[in-house]
Amino acid sequence: MKPLGPIPAGFGAIDGVLAVDGRKVTDLVAEAGGTPLFVYSSAMLSARMGALRAAMPKRLSIHYAVKANPYAPLLRHMVSLVDGFDIASGGELAIVKEAGINPEKVSFAGPGKRDAEIEIAIAAGVTLNLESEGEAERAFAIADRLGVIPQLAVRVNPDFDLKGSGMKMGGGAKPFGVDAARVPALVRRIMATGANWRGFHIFAGSQALDAGAIIETQAQTLALAARLADEAGAVLPKCNLGGGFGIPYFPGDEPLDIAAVGAALDERFANLPAALKDTAFCIELGRYLVGEAGVYLASVVDRKESHGEVYLVTDGGLHHQLAASGNFGTVVRRNYPSAIATRFGAAAEEEANIVGCLCTPLDRLADKGGFPRADVGDLVAVFCAGAYGATASPAMFLGQGPAREILV
Ligand SMILES: *Cc1c(COP(=O)(O)O)cnc(C)c1O
Repeated sequence: MKPLGPIPAGFGAIDGVLAVDGRKVTDLVAEAGGTPLFVYSSAMLSARMGALRAAMPKRLSIHYAVKANPYAPLLRHMVSLVDGFDIASGGELAIVKEAGINPEKVSFAGPGKRDAEIEIAIAAGVTLNLESEGEAERAFAIADRLGVIPQLAVRVNPDFDLKGSGMKMGGGAKPFGVDAARVPALVRRIMATGANWRGFHIFAGSQALDAGAIIETQAQTLALAARLADEAGAVLPKCNLGGGFGIPYFPGDEPLDIAAVGAALDERFANLPAALKDTAFCIELGRYLVGEAGVYLASVVDRKESHGEVYLVTDGGLHHQLAASGNFGTVVRRNYPSAIATRFGAAAEEEANIVGCLCTPLDRLADKGGFPRADVGDLVAVFCAGAYGATASPAMFLGQGPAREILV
């Protein structure tokens, strides 16, 4: 038997059925029209933000990285909770506009911005986090042509990375941001064009559970921002400190100690170097805000045995849950938290593999987990499905198509 990841707090059971915000998932499946289905909990989203606000310094704004989950009802719920939104494409810009989000609260990072995306963003008043000198020149020219003063920040490729992070986004050669050494010259160039200078964006990594590593990275980020601002001879209106707050997915993972991160940041804010005295600070988080508030549900369509192993074959799979299958940047496949949703809380009776309906051995949602006995018609649940699920999986693979989604 292989261990399963920890089921996030906040889920309940009614008559042995998994419940979200006091509603049985069987009822939610009926309401949504069937499986596979992502269920997101607005109560869990609100609770998560409340706890985060309480732990972080008041001076720190909290932004939501839309790419983690751009589902429109979820996005509309986030509007009342967060201070800003970070997008990574023109497509996400269209999604945030559709959700009625004020473009002044939006910043746009990401390599490979096309001219048409830059144009729409500048025209709307979105802040561009410039990823290169070439992108900066294109932005100046487009703003000129439009007769608009652009909102421009520089994404810095820092000289360090976030230790222990699942995905390293800084340190050494990277397609993201401008190497720190060249940033002061670019800042001077931006200011010389008469653009509205919006500061730095410094993102060093993702999915860290170690508070010490995040504290260290934030300290390095503040020091780097101060040094670059001094070298550029510019005051720093804003500094996006990145994010990287992780959630426990796997057996043995412990939740991030946000109280420790908040206390350390409080201390730093009380002792800022001169260049950062009046700077507005934010962090941008995706999975930490939404990841644990989502659960993916699939129906068992076949129960079979092969060489003594039980296979629960579902109507879902890696085309909606690429990360849970272990095919989204993990080296060793480990089990996400999962359960038989229609026998939630029942004791484990057998070892079973939960697989998807795709013709590939990669399509495995749980490997040799301990579960109560499940049969055709039962629902399985894969937790930690609120981030990088529906839109970060190959829904068109094998012609399967997207999953349903619902916010309760
Ligand atoms: C993906 C990304 C995020 C969000 O990362 P999470 O791990 O979901 O918090 C934030 N900022 C940038 C620049 C990103 O690329």
